[in-house]
Amino acid sequence: MHKKTAHELNKLLAKKESSSQELTTAVFAHLEKVEPKIQAFVTVTKEEALKQAKAADERLKNNDNVTPLTGIPIAIKDNMCTKGILTTCSSKILSNYKPPYDATVVEKLKAAGAVVVGKTNLDEFAMGSSTENSGLHKTYNPWDLNCVPGGSSGGSAAAVAANEAVMATGSDTGGSIRQPAAFCGVVGLKPTYGLVSRYGLVAFASSLDQIGPLTKDVTDTAIMLNVLAGHDKKDSTSVDRPVPDYQKSLVNDIKNLRIGIIKELLGEGIEPKVKESIQQTMKKFEELGAKIMEVSLPTFAYAVATYYLIAPAEASSNLGRYDGVKYGQRSPNSPDLLTMYNNTRAEGFGPEVKRRILIGTYALSAGYYDAFYLKALKVRTVIKNDFERAFQNCDLLLSPTTTSAAFKVGEKSNDPLAMYLSDIATIPVNLAGLPAISLPCGFIDNLPIGLQLIGKAFAEETLLRAAFTYEQNTDWHKRKPSII
Ligand code: GLN
Repeated sequence: MHKKTAHELNKLLAKKESSSQELTTAVFAHLEKVEPKIQAFVTVTKEEALKQAKAADERLKNNDNVTPLTGIPIAIKDNMCTKGILTTCSSKILSNYKPPYDATVVEKLKAAGAVVVGKTNLDEFAMGSSTENSGLHKTYNPWDLNCVPGGSSGGSAAAVAANEAVMATGSDTGGSIRQPAAFCGVVGLKPTYGLVSRYGLVAFASSLDQIGPLTKDVTDTAIMLNVLAGHDKKDSTSVDRPVPDYQKSLVNDIKNLRIGIIKELLGEGIEPKVKESIQQTMKKFEELGAKIMEVSLPTFAYAVATYYLIAPAEASSNLGRYDGVKYGQRSPNSPDLLTMYNNTRAEGFGPEVKRRILIGTYALSAGYYDAFYLKALKVRTVIKNDFERAFQNCDLLLSPTTTSAAFKVGEKSNDPLAMYLSDIATIPVNLAGLPAISLPCGFIDNLPIGLQLIGKAFAEETLLRAAFTYEQNTDWHKRKPSII
């Protein structure tokens, strides 16, 4: 039962062929078997989950406000606040932090009747691409335990791929939903900036962060997005516009859809086998009736450098609040306040977080602000304009999600630049605030690879339709890791 998707399980629950309590028990039985190997979770909330499952069963029994997520076991990335439940951001500095409130997305998922099985591991404060930067422990790729699951939502992607949860939330600042989705062979969607509330998401880089779904297939992504999307007055960046029913976009038809292939993402730095898969994917889309054209986005080359000024600048400011007074851990035995601040931050933050704070503080400091931060903001606008130009002639853009399949644990952990470059296909999308989805499109030596589709702002429906059509006409999503 734990292997099924939410839409399959919803049918079973609706027909009373199974109960949420049975399902949740089955998910935990499986989770307890595989979790010692995968280590996707920071906190498992079995007791609360079984209570929520019982409440969901009541709802199902009385047909009381039943939604497609009622009774479905899900996981939450550990940078989203959960009332009374540890929310660590996989950082030592927050290792004892229990928020007094739920993030809006958590509140909405709970209100829909979803059952929260636990909180998933991430790179500390979502800074990284492999989950190796977690201050707590590493997570391993269900397809090959010697490989990373990607990051920063590596715990969520691995949990879904290994059937430890039916679906999970992720957050994406520069690729953190899509890249782990690609590495773990699941579907991940980064919504348009402003579509989903970030209230209660621990901020990393506020002009880039978005929350989105990680699921076993495209249908489940639409189902979860239906719950996540929408205006929230508690998040001033959330946009007040009507939310469509995304399940209605799940139509197996892309005739005459114009898809632009990003030339810059099929050249240097992309592994030949990834290119081959993308070329086959293009053929498939053509066969299905799409019109394929090549597009060039020449400013892509500057995206990673731009991101590594803007994201750390915002992070250095956002992380100023961890001072040992307001949240989380405090270093004991400091003789005075300033030493206490210093010790708390020196002991609480890991090396990657410190690196980002240093880069960000430098880029924002007087004398360097104009040369670095302001320049990066200008380049960001140029990148956005590049996308706008490309979208004059096409409805969607297509690229690989990553340059390779999942890499080995330890392979890039001592080389931050190599790690940063693993996000060249995903980062430009965040800089422009656009929506993008990653879904399985092939394998290299039994490791999944992902296809990225990028849409115009708030064009999630087109993205989902194209992704659904591709999925319905291919078998990649049916291949599963042997560990499940
Ligand atoms: N890998 C990128 C980084 O390290 C993106 C992370 C993210 O999207 N949260 O910043």
